[in-house]
Amino acid sequence: MSQTTLRYGPTTDAVSAIIAIGERSTFAGSNETLWKALGQDAAKFEATEVLVDGKTDVATTYTKVGETRVQHTFAHLNKDRSRNMGHIRSDLVHDLVAAQTPKEGDVKLVLALENQNQVFPAACAVARAFPLYNKKSAAQKLKPRNVHVEVSVPGGVTEETYKKLNNVADSIRLVARIVDMPTSELNTTTYIAEIKAAVQDLPTVKVEVISGEELREKGFGGIYGVGKQAEEPPALVVLTYAPVKQTVEARPVFVGKGIVYDTGGLSLKTSGGMCGMKEDMGGSAACFGAFLAAAKNQYGGALTAVLCLAENAIGPKAQRPDDVVTMYSGKTVELNNTDAEGRLVLGDGVAYATRDLQSTHVIDIATLTGAQLITTGKKHAAVLSRDEDFEKIVLAAGQQSGDWCFPILYAPEILKKEFDSKVADMKNSVADRMNGQASCAGHFVEEHLTADWSGKWAHVDMAGPSGKDQRATGFGVALLLAVLEKL
Ligand SMILES: [Zn+2]
Repeated sequence: MSQTTLRYGPTTDAVSAIIAIGERSTFAGSNETLWKALGQDAAKFEATEVLVDGKTDVATTYTKVGETRVQHTFAHLNKDRSRNMGHIRSDLVHDLVAAQTPKEGDVKLVLALENQNQVFPAACAVARAFPLYNKKSAAQKLKPRNVHVEVSVPGGVTEETYKKLNNVADSIRLVARIVDMPTSELNTTTYIAEIKAAVQDLPTVKVEVISGEELREKGFGGIYGVGKQAEEPPALVVLTYAPVKQTVEARPVFVGKGIVYDTGGLSLKTSGGMCGMKEDMGGSAACFGAFLAAAKNQYGGALTAVLCLAENAIGPKAQRPDDVVTMYSGKTVELNNTDAEGRLVLGDGVAYATRDLQSTHVIDIATLTGAQLITTGKKHAAVLSRDEDFEKIVLAAGQQSGDWCFPILYAPEILKKEFDSKVADMKNSVADRMNGQASCAGHFVEEHLTADWSGKWAHVDMAGPSGKDQRATGFGVALLLAVLEKL
Protein backbone atom coordinates (compact mmCIF):
# COMPACT_ATOMS: atom_id res chain seq x y z
CA MET A 1 0.00 0.00 0.00
CA SER A 2 1.26 3.47 -0.77
CA GLN A 3 2.24 5.43 2.28
CA THR A 4 3.15 8.94 3.20
CA THR A 5 6.06 9.02 5.59
CA LEU A 6 5.68 12.11 7.74
CA ARG A 7 8.84 13.49 9.33
CA TYR A 8 9.33 16.63 11.41
CA GLY A 9 12.68 18.38 11.14
CA PRO A 10 14.80 20.42 8.75
CA THR A 11 15.60 18.86 5.38
CA THR A 12 17.61 19.76 2.32
CA ASP A 13 16.12 16.90 0.26
CA ALA A 14 14.76 17.83 -3.15
CA VAL A 15 10.95 18.01 -3.12
CA SER A 16 8.30 18.68 -5.73
CA ALA A 17 6.21 20.99 -3.54
CA ILE A 18 7.04 23.52 -0.84
CA ILE A 19 4.03 24.67 1.12
CA ALA A 20 4.21 27.43 3.68
CA ILE A 21 1.34 27.89 6.11
CA GLY A 22 1.10 30.75 8.53
CA GLU A 23 -0.76 33.77 9.74
CA ARG A 24 -0.38 36.65 7.31
CA SER A 25 2.15 38.66 9.29
CA THR A 26 4.64 35.78 9.34
CA PHE A 27 4.99 35.99 5.55
CA ALA A 28 6.49 39.48 5.65
CA GLY A 29 9.62 39.80 3.50
CA SER A 30 11.77 40.49 6.54
CA ASN A 31 11.07 37.08 8.14
CA GLU A 32 14.48 35.60 7.44
CA THR A 33 14.05 32.36 9.38
CA LEU A 34 11.05 31.56 7.23
CA TRP A 35 12.89 32.18 3.98
CA LYS A 36 15.75 30.05 5.24
CA ALA A 37 13.32 27.23 6.03
CA LEU A 38 11.83 27.59 2.58
CA GLY A 39 15.32 27.57 1.07
CA GLN A 40 14.23 30.49 -1.08
CA ASP A 41 14.73 34.13 -1.70
CA ALA A 42 11.72 36.23 -0.71
CA ALA A 43 12.06 38.66 -3.56
CA LYS A 44 11.47 35.94 -6.15
CA PHE A 45 7.88 35.33 -5.24
CA GLU A 46 5.20 37.73 -6.22
CA ALA A 47 2.84 35.38 -4.45
CA THR A 48 4.22 36.59 -1.17
CA GLU A 49 3.32 40.14 -1.99
CA VAL A 50 -0.20 39.10 -2.75
CA LEU A 51 -0.51 37.46 0.64
CA VAL A 52 0.99 40.34 2.57
CA ASP A 53 -1.37 42.66 0.70
CA GLY A 54 -4.20 40.65 2.16
CA LYS A 55 -5.89 39.98 -1.16
CA THR A 56 -5.56 36.22 -1.47
CA ASP A 57 -5.67 33.39 1.03
CA VAL A 58 -3.70 30.86 -0.99
CA ALA A 59 -1.18 31.70 -3.70
CA THR A 60 0.76 29.20 -5.77
CA THR A 61 3.63 29.69 -8.21
CA TYR A 62 5.81 27.16 -10.01
CA THR A 63 9.53 27.13 -10.71
CA LYS A 64 11.70 24.74 -12.64
CA VAL A 65 14.56 23.02 -10.87
CA GLY A 66 16.34 21.09 -13.63
CA GLU A 67 13.57 19.03 -15.20
CA THR A 68 11.34 19.13 -12.13
CA ARG A 69 8.46 21.53 -11.77
CA VAL A 70 8.32 22.66 -8.16
CA GLN A 71 5.13 23.96 -6.59
CA HIS A 72 5.45 26.87 -4.15
CA THR A 73 2.35 27.56 -2.15
CA PHE A 74 1.70 30.16 0.52
CA ALA A 75 -1.42 29.55 2.52
CA HIS A 76 -2.72 32.18 4.84
CA LEU A 77 -4.10 31.04 8.16
CA ASN A 78 -7.07 32.92 9.50
CA LYS A 79 -6.11 34.65 12.72
CA ASP A 80 -9.64 34.93 14.16
CA ARG A 81 -9.48 33.21 17.47
CA SER A 82 -11.79 33.79 20.41
CA ARG A 83 -10.99 32.47 23.88
CA ASN A 84 -11.92 28.81 23.39
CA MET A 85 -9.93 28.27 20.19
CA GLY A 86 -6.49 27.53 21.59
CA HIS A 87 -3.16 29.06 20.55
CA ILE A 88 -3.68 28.54 16.84
CA ARG A 89 -6.58 27.58 14.58
CA SER A 90 -5.44 23.98 14.45
CA ASP A 91 -8.64 23.04 12.60
CA LEU A 92 -7.66 25.40 9.78
CA VAL A 93 -4.05 24.19 9.76
CA HIS A 94 -5.46 20.72 9.14
CA ASP A 95 -7.80 21.96 6.40
CA LEU A 96 -5.08 23.93 4.60
CA VAL A 97 -2.57 21.10 4.73
CA ALA A 98 -5.15 18.62 3.47
CA ALA A 99 -6.29 20.92 0.65
CA GLN A 100 -2.88 22.19 -0.54
CA THR A 101 -0.66 19.11 -0.32
CA PRO A 102 -0.45 17.24 -3.62
CA LYS A 103 -1.37 13.55 -3.41
CA GLU A 104 1.91 12.45 -4.92
CA GLY A 105 5.57 13.42 -4.70
CA ASP A 106 7.85 14.51 -1.89
CA VAL A 107 6.69 17.62 -0.06
CA LYS A 108 8.12 20.10 2.37
CA LEU A 109 5.64 21.83 4.66
CA VAL A 110 6.82 24.90 6.48
CA LEU A 111 4.77 26.07 9.45
CA ALA A 112 5.37 29.79 9.86
CA LEU A 113 4.39 30.38 13.49
CA GLU A 114 4.28 33.44 15.69
CA ASN A 115 5.28 31.89 18.99
CA GLN A 116 6.33 28.69 20.75
CA ASN A 117 2.80 27.98 22.05
CA GLN A 118 1.71 27.29 18.49
CA VAL A 119 4.30 24.61 17.77
CA PHE A 120 2.62 21.61 19.45
CA PRO A 121 -0.97 22.18 18.25
CA ALA A 122 0.15 23.06 14.71
CA ALA A 123 2.38 19.99 14.47
CA CYS A 124 -0.43 17.75 15.74
CA ALA A 125 -2.88 19.27 13.26
CA VAL A 126 -0.56 18.41 10.37
CA ALA A 127 -0.42 14.77 11.47
CA ARG A 128 -4.22 14.52 11.20
CA ALA A 129 -4.09 15.53 7.54
CA PHE A 130 -2.25 12.35 6.49
CA PRO A 131 -4.50 9.37 7.25
CA LEU A 132 -2.95 5.94 6.84
CA TYR A 133 -6.00 3.76 6.32
CA ASN A 134 -6.93 3.73 2.64
CA LYS A 135 -8.53 0.90 0.69
CA LYS A 136 -9.07 2.83 -2.53
CA SER A 137 -7.63 0.74 -5.36
CA ALA A 138 -6.05 3.80 -7.00
CA ALA A 139 -4.15 4.58 -3.82
CA GLN A 140 -2.35 1.25 -3.99
CA LYS A 141 -0.59 2.42 -7.16
CA LEU A 142 0.88 5.62 -5.70
CA LYS A 143 4.60 5.61 -4.92
CA PRO A 144 5.65 5.92 -1.28
CA ARG A 145 6.63 9.50 -0.55
CA ASN A 146 8.05 11.73 2.16
CA VAL A 147 6.43 14.77 3.69
CA HIS A 148 8.87 16.86 5.71
CA VAL A 149 7.55 19.35 8.24
CA GLU A 150 9.74 22.22 9.33
CA VAL A 151 8.77 24.85 11.86
CA SER A 152 9.81 28.46 11.52
CA VAL A 153 9.22 30.21 14.84
CA PRO A 154 10.99 32.82 16.99
CA GLY A 155 13.35 30.93 19.29
CA GLY A 156 13.55 28.00 16.89
CA VAL A 157 12.82 24.31 17.47
CA THR A 158 15.41 21.98 18.95
CA GLU A 159 16.30 18.57 17.60
CA GLU A 160 14.93 17.08 20.83
CA THR A 161 11.56 18.77 20.27
CA TYR A 162 11.42 17.51 16.68
CA LYS A 163 12.13 14.01 17.97
CA LYS A 164 9.24 14.23 20.40
CA LEU A 165 6.92 15.70 17.77
CA ASN A 166 7.70 12.75 15.50
CA ASN A 167 6.64 10.32 18.23
CA VAL A 168 3.44 12.27 18.90
CA ALA A 169 2.60 12.49 15.20
CA ASP A 170 3.25 8.76 14.77
CA SER A 171 0.79 8.09 17.60
CA ILE A 172 -1.87 10.39 16.21
CA ARG A 173 -1.64 8.70 12.80
CA LEU A 174 -1.61 5.22 14.36
CA VAL A 175 -4.72 6.05 16.39
CA ALA A 176 -6.50 7.51 13.37
CA ARG A 177 -5.61 4.41 11.39
CA ILE A 178 -7.01 1.92 13.88
CA VAL A 179 -10.14 4.02 14.42
CA ASP A 180 -10.66 4.12 10.65
CA MET A 181 -10.27 0.34 10.37
CA PRO A 182 -13.61 -1.47 10.08
CA THR A 183 -14.40 -4.16 12.63
CA SER A 184 -13.79 -6.88 10.04
CA GLU A 185 -10.13 -5.88 10.40
CA LEU A 186 -10.00 -4.46 13.92
CA ASN A 187 -11.85 -6.63 16.43
CA THR A 188 -10.88 -7.02 20.07
CA THR A 189 -8.29 -9.70 19.23
CA THR A 190 -6.58 -7.90 16.34
CA TYR A 191 -6.68 -4.66 18.36
CA ILE A 192 -4.68 -6.35 21.13
CA ALA A 193 -2.22 -7.62 18.50
CA GLU A 194 -1.78 -4.02 17.25
CA ILE A 195 -1.11 -2.84 20.80
CA LYS A 196 1.42 -5.58 21.51
CA ALA A 197 3.25 -4.95 18.23
CA ALA A 198 3.50 -1.22 18.97
CA VAL A 199 5.05 -1.65 22.43
CA GLN A 200 7.19 -4.75 21.89
CA ASP A 201 10.45 -2.81 21.58
CA LEU A 202 9.82 -0.67 24.66
CA PRO A 203 11.44 -2.30 27.72
CA THR A 204 9.72 0.22 30.03
CA VAL A 205 6.25 -1.04 29.03
CA LYS A 206 4.29 -4.09 30.22
CA VAL A 207 1.02 -5.36 28.77
CA GLU A 208 -1.53 -7.35 30.77
CA VAL A 209 -4.71 -8.73 29.19
CA ILE A 210 -7.73 -10.05 31.08
CA SER A 211 -10.21 -11.46 28.60
CA GLY A 212 -13.31 -13.56 28.05
CA GLU A 213 -14.45 -15.79 30.93
CA GLU A 214 -11.61 -14.51 33.10
CA LEU A 215 -13.34 -11.11 33.12
CA ARG A 216 -16.49 -12.73 34.49
CA GLU A 217 -14.55 -14.68 37.11
CA LYS A 218 -12.77 -11.53 38.29
CA GLY A 219 -16.00 -9.57 38.56
CA PHE A 220 -15.82 -7.29 35.51
CA GLY A 221 -19.55 -7.63 34.92
CA GLY A 222 -19.78 -4.43 32.88
CA ILE A 223 -17.20 -5.29 30.22
CA TYR A 224 -18.11 -8.98 30.18
CA GLY A 225 -21.81 -8.33 29.74
CA VAL A 226 -21.34 -5.91 26.86
CA GLY A 227 -18.91 -8.15 24.98
CA LYS A 228 -20.05 -11.70 25.76
CA GLN A 229 -22.11 -12.21 22.60
CA ALA A 230 -19.38 -11.24 20.17
CA GLU A 231 -17.26 -13.77 18.29
CA GLU A 232 -14.07 -12.23 19.67
CA PRO A 233 -13.96 -11.99 23.47
CA PRO A 234 -14.11 -8.74 25.45
CA ALA A 235 -10.89 -7.72 27.18
CA LEU A 236 -9.41 -5.37 29.71
CA VAL A 237 -5.95 -4.33 28.50
CA VAL A 238 -3.66 -2.77 31.08
CA LEU A 239 -0.56 -0.99 29.76
CA THR A 240 1.98 -0.07 32.42
CA TYR A 241 4.93 2.25 31.93
CA ALA A 242 7.69 2.65 34.50
CA PRO A 243 10.16 5.51 33.88
CA VAL A 244 13.87 4.79 34.01
CA LYS A 245 14.26 7.84 36.23
CA GLN A 246 11.14 9.01 38.07
CA THR A 247 10.80 12.80 38.16
CA VAL A 248 7.00 13.07 38.38
CA GLU A 249 5.24 11.99 41.58
CA ALA A 250 1.73 11.82 40.15
CA ARG A 251 0.52 8.39 39.00
CA PRO A 252 -1.95 9.15 36.21
CA VAL A 253 -4.20 6.52 34.68
CA PHE A 254 -6.03 6.81 31.37
CA VAL A 255 -9.20 4.75 30.99
CA GLY A 256 -10.62 4.38 27.48
CA LYS A 257 -13.82 3.08 25.95
CA GLY A 258 -12.97 0.51 23.32
CA ILE A 259 -16.19 -0.67 21.72
CA VAL A 260 -14.85 -2.04 18.44
CA TYR A 261 -18.38 -2.09 17.09
CA ASP A 262 -21.61 -0.83 18.57
CA THR A 263 -24.80 -2.27 17.12
CA GLY A 264 -26.60 -1.00 20.21
CA GLY A 265 -27.11 -4.63 21.25
CA LEU A 266 -30.74 -5.74 21.66
CA SER A 267 -31.63 -2.04 21.96
CA LEU A 268 -30.63 -2.08 18.31
CA LYS A 269 -29.62 1.10 16.54
CA THR A 270 -31.44 2.10 13.36
CA SER A 271 -29.59 1.01 10.23
CA GLY A 272 -28.45 4.52 9.32
CA GLY A 273 -27.58 5.24 12.95
CA MET A 274 -25.18 2.32 12.98
CA CYS A 275 -22.85 3.62 10.25
CA GLY A 276 -19.61 4.87 11.72
CA MET A 277 -19.88 2.72 14.84
CA LYS A 278 -16.48 1.19 14.05
CA GLU A 279 -15.22 4.44 15.62
CA ASP A 280 -16.65 3.65 19.04
CA MET A 281 -13.23 2.56 20.28
CA GLY A 282 -11.74 6.02 19.73
CA GLY A 283 -11.34 6.78 23.44
CA SER A 284 -9.31 3.65 24.09
CA ALA A 285 -7.23 4.37 20.98
CA ALA A 286 -6.50 7.88 22.30
CA CYS A 287 -5.32 6.38 25.62
CA PHE A 288 -3.16 3.87 23.78
CA GLY A 289 -1.67 6.49 21.45
CA ALA A 290 -0.93 8.98 24.24
CA PHE A 291 0.56 6.21 26.38
CA LEU A 292 2.79 5.09 23.50
CA ALA A 293 4.08 8.58 22.75
CA ALA A 294 4.66 9.28 26.46
CA ALA A 295 6.67 6.07 26.79
CA LYS A 296 8.74 6.82 23.68
CA ASN A 297 9.33 10.37 24.89
CA GLN A 298 10.44 9.00 28.28
CA TYR A 299 7.78 10.59 30.45
CA GLY A 300 9.06 11.06 34.00
CA GLY A 301 6.17 9.44 35.86
CA ALA A 302 4.59 6.02 36.24
CA LEU A 303 1.72 5.84 33.75
CA THR A 304 -1.03 3.30 33.15
CA ALA A 305 -3.58 2.97 30.37
CA VAL A 306 -6.65 0.82 30.97
CA LEU A 307 -8.42 -0.09 27.74
CA CYS A 308 -11.92 -1.54 27.99
CA LEU A 309 -12.43 -3.53 24.80
CA ALA A 310 -15.67 -5.20 23.69
CA GLU A 311 -17.93 -5.56 20.68
CA ASN A 312 -21.55 -4.72 21.46
CA ALA A 313 -23.02 -7.44 19.25
CA ILE A 314 -26.51 -8.84 18.90
CA GLY A 315 -27.52 -12.51 19.22
CA PRO A 316 -28.81 -15.14 21.66
CA LYS A 317 -26.04 -14.54 24.20
CA ALA A 318 -26.44 -10.76 24.19
CA GLN A 319 -27.42 -9.12 27.46
CA ARG A 320 -30.98 -7.83 27.57
CA PRO A 321 -32.81 -4.77 28.78
CA ASP A 322 -34.05 -5.74 32.31
CA ASP A 323 -30.94 -7.83 33.03
CA VAL A 324 -29.09 -6.82 36.19
CA VAL A 325 -25.28 -6.84 36.04
CA THR A 326 -22.85 -6.58 38.92
CA MET A 327 -20.03 -4.21 38.08
CA TYR A 328 -16.39 -4.45 39.17
CA SER A 329 -17.20 -1.70 41.70
CA GLY A 330 -19.65 -4.14 43.37
CA LYS A 331 -22.61 -1.95 42.44
CA THR A 332 -25.53 -3.42 40.51
CA VAL A 333 -26.99 -2.00 37.32
CA GLU A 334 -30.42 -2.71 35.84
CA LEU A 335 -30.11 -2.39 32.09
CA ASN A 336 -32.78 -0.26 30.48
CA ASN A 337 -30.83 0.35 27.29
CA THR A 338 -28.14 -1.98 25.97
CA ASP A 339 -26.95 0.83 23.69
CA ALA A 340 -25.71 2.75 26.76
CA GLU A 341 -22.83 0.29 26.93
CA GLY A 342 -19.87 2.65 26.97
CA ARG A 343 -20.52 3.69 30.56
CA LEU A 344 -20.70 0.03 31.60
CA VAL A 345 -17.21 -0.75 30.32
CA LEU A 346 -15.84 2.55 31.62
CA GLY A 347 -17.41 1.93 35.03
CA ASP A 348 -15.39 -1.27 35.32
CA GLY A 349 -12.31 0.54 34.02
CA VAL A 350 -12.41 3.38 36.54
CA ALA A 351 -13.23 0.96 39.38
CA TYR A 352 -10.10 -1.01 38.49
CA ALA A 353 -8.03 2.21 38.17
CA THR A 354 -9.09 3.46 41.60
CA ARG A 355 -9.00 0.15 43.47
CA ASP A 356 -6.22 -1.98 41.98
CA LEU A 357 -3.84 0.77 40.84
CA GLN A 358 -2.21 3.39 43.01
CA SER A 359 -3.59 6.20 40.90
CA THR A 360 -3.52 9.90 41.77
CA HIS A 361 -5.33 11.12 38.63
CA VAL A 362 -7.81 9.19 36.51
CA ILE A 363 -9.11 10.45 33.18
CA ASP A 364 -11.66 8.41 31.34
CA ILE A 365 -12.18 9.28 27.69
CA ALA A 366 -14.81 8.01 25.30
CA THR A 367 -17.02 8.54 22.30
CA LEU A 368 -19.88 8.35 24.77
CA THR A 369 -22.99 10.34 23.95
CA GLY A 370 -24.71 12.07 21.07
CA ALA A 371 -25.66 14.62 23.74
CA GLN A 372 -22.01 15.72 23.85
CA LEU A 373 -22.42 17.18 20.36
CA ILE A 374 -25.53 19.04 21.44
CA THR A 375 -23.72 20.36 24.53
CA THR A 376 -20.24 21.34 23.29
CA GLY A 377 -20.31 20.86 19.53
CA LYS A 378 -18.34 18.93 16.95
CA LYS A 379 -14.87 20.26 17.72
CA HIS A 380 -14.80 20.61 21.51
CA ALA A 381 -14.91 17.58 23.79
CA ALA A 382 -17.01 17.82 26.95
CA VAL A 383 -15.19 17.68 30.29
CA LEU A 384 -16.88 16.69 33.54
CA SER A 385 -14.95 16.76 36.80
CA ARG A 386 -15.76 16.92 40.47
CA ASP A 387 -12.48 18.70 41.02
CA GLU A 388 -12.30 22.25 39.69
CA ASP A 389 -8.49 22.32 39.64
CA PHE A 390 -8.28 19.15 37.60
CA GLU A 391 -11.00 20.38 35.27
CA LYS A 392 -8.91 23.52 34.66
CA ILE A 393 -5.86 21.37 33.90
CA VAL A 394 -7.77 19.39 31.28
CA LEU A 395 -9.26 22.53 29.72
CA ALA A 396 -5.83 24.21 29.56
CA ALA A 397 -4.37 21.05 28.03
CA GLY A 398 -7.08 21.27 25.38
CA GLN A 399 -6.12 24.84 24.54
CA GLN A 400 -2.44 23.93 24.32
CA SER A 401 -2.84 20.77 22.28
CA GLY A 402 -5.51 21.85 19.83
CA ASP A 403 -7.72 19.02 21.14
CA TRP A 404 -10.18 21.59 22.44
CA CYS A 405 -12.47 20.97 25.40
CA PHE A 406 -15.29 22.73 27.20
CA PRO A 407 -16.69 22.05 30.72
CA ILE A 408 -20.13 20.60 31.29
CA LEU A 409 -22.43 20.74 34.31
CA TYR A 410 -21.23 18.89 37.39
CA ALA A 411 -24.28 18.32 39.62
CA PRO A 412 -24.70 14.70 40.75
CA GLU A 413 -27.15 15.72 43.45
CA ILE A 414 -29.66 16.63 40.75
CA LEU A 415 -28.67 14.38 37.88
CA LYS A 416 -28.08 11.02 39.58
CA LYS A 417 -31.84 10.58 40.04
CA GLU A 418 -32.08 9.99 36.32
CA PHE A 419 -30.69 6.49 36.95
CA ASP A 420 -33.06 5.47 39.78
CA SER A 421 -33.97 1.77 39.72
CA LYS A 422 -36.49 -0.18 41.83
CA VAL A 423 -34.47 -3.39 41.85
CA ALA A 424 -30.79 -2.43 41.49
CA ASP A 425 -28.42 0.33 42.56
CA MET A 426 -28.98 2.16 39.31
CA LYS A 427 -30.15 1.88 35.72
CA ASN A 428 -27.72 2.54 32.89
CA SER A 429 -29.74 5.04 30.88
CA VAL A 430 -31.50 8.25 31.88
CA ALA A 431 -35.24 8.61 32.49
CA ASP A 432 -35.37 12.08 30.95
CA ARG A 433 -33.17 12.87 27.95
CA MET A 434 -33.77 16.60 28.47
CA ASN A 435 -31.77 16.79 31.67
CA GLY A 436 -28.06 17.27 31.08
CA GLN A 437 -27.61 13.91 29.42
CA ALA A 438 -23.88 14.22 28.66
CA SER A 439 -23.26 15.09 32.33
CA CYS A 440 -25.49 12.21 33.45
CA ALA A 441 -23.38 9.70 31.51
CA GLY A 442 -20.28 11.00 33.26
CA HIS A 443 -21.98 10.79 36.65
CA PHE A 444 -22.82 7.16 35.93
CA VAL A 445 -19.10 6.45 35.42
CA GLU A 446 -18.29 8.43 38.57
CA GLU A 447 -20.54 6.13 40.62
CA HIS A 448 -18.02 3.36 40.06
CA LEU A 449 -14.96 5.18 41.39
CA THR A 450 -13.80 3.45 44.57
CA ALA A 451 -15.44 5.26 47.48
CA ASP A 452 -12.34 5.88 49.62
CA TRP A 453 -10.08 6.73 46.67
CA SER A 454 -8.62 10.20 47.22
CA GLY A 455 -7.34 11.02 43.71
CA LYS A 456 -8.68 13.39 41.09
CA TRP A 457 -10.99 12.32 38.32
CA ALA A 458 -12.11 13.83 35.03
CA HIS A 459 -14.36 12.47 32.32
CA VAL A 460 -13.91 13.44 28.66
CA ASP A 461 -16.68 12.80 26.12
CA MET A 462 -15.18 13.14 22.63
CA ALA A 463 -18.06 11.79 20.53
CA GLY A 464 -17.99 14.86 18.25
CA PRO A 465 -14.33 15.72 17.77
CA SER A 466 -13.19 12.12 17.30
CA GLY A 467 -14.24 12.23 13.67
CA LYS A 468 -14.44 14.67 10.77
CA ASP A 469 -15.83 13.97 7.31
CA GLN A 470 -16.00 10.21 8.00
CA ARG A 471 -12.34 10.13 9.02
CA ALA A 472 -10.87 9.67 12.49
CA THR A 473 -8.98 12.69 13.81
CA GLY A 474 -6.79 10.98 16.40
CA PHE A 475 -8.43 13.26 18.95
CA GLY A 476 -7.28 12.77 22.53
CA VAL A 477 -3.65 11.78 21.96
CA ALA A 478 -2.39 15.37 22.11
CA LEU A 479 -4.86 16.25 24.88
CA LEU A 480 -3.76 13.48 27.22
CA LEU A 481 -0.08 14.20 26.55
CA ALA A 482 -0.66 17.85 27.38
CA VAL A 483 -2.39 16.82 30.63
CA LEU A 484 0.69 14.77 31.59
CA GLU A 485 2.86 17.85 31.17
CA LYS A 486 0.81 19.60 33.87
CA LEU A 487 0.86 16.96 36.62
ZN1 LIG B 1 -23.99 2.35 22.30
